Amino acid sequence: MSETQFAAGVTIHLHKHDLPESILSKFSGVVAIDTETMGLDARRDRLCLVQLSAGDGTAHLVQLIPPGLGGRGGDCPNLKRLLVDPAVVKLFHFARFDVAMLRQTFGIGTGPVICTKIASKLVRTYTDRHGLRDLCRELLGVEISKQLQSSDWGALDLSPEQCAYAASDVLHLHALWAKLEALLAREGRRALADACFRFLPARATLDLLGYDDPDLFEH
Ligand code: MN
Repeated sequence: MSETQFAAGVTIHLHKHDLPESILSKFSGVVAIDTETMGLDARRDRLCLVQLSAGDGTAHLVQLIPPGLGGRGGDCPNLKRLLVDPAVVKLFHFARFDVAMLRQTFGIGTGPVICTKIASKLVRTYTDRHGLRDLCRELLGVEISKQLQSSDWGALDLSPEQCAYAASDVLHLHALWAKLEALLAREGRRALADACFRFLPARATLDLLGYDDPDLFEH
């Protein structure tokens, strides 16, 4: 494990192969999760990194390395245990992709799930800008960079810049969710949001089966 201290009290831990058992107990309530992959096709592209944060300014990055490159592939029992733990809510931005990726890689159903992108679309109907960067700027006044989004996440040695970028994708999700949760209540759409969140794992499985295009619900 390597530890890097960044500005403003942010700490980033990089773990190879799996989350250390000792860290599992730090995750209760709601854990923010994101993934970095070799591309945007969950059926084609390899999962490279899973980022997690308890919302305390600390990010844990789990780097998954294929057995052919000296790693353990999808052999990460601690991470998988957390992903399926019914007592821990998993908070994503665009959960549809991450949940599909995690199912494709590990063969497990991640849950329960909540998603800042779905929440934003349900309440911020005055805009079509629902990217993580847009939400951080408007709701939190925080600027995050998306510059390294399309960098080579399959590299065996991730750069400090890549680690900082990957961490920034989970460090603000708790604060965003708090804002969006208040908006969902204000607009009377919390129950609808919860129904969408319950459906998300099925939506991800439908995507993996090819029901994304044409969409299953399309005429
Ligand atoms: Mn990301």
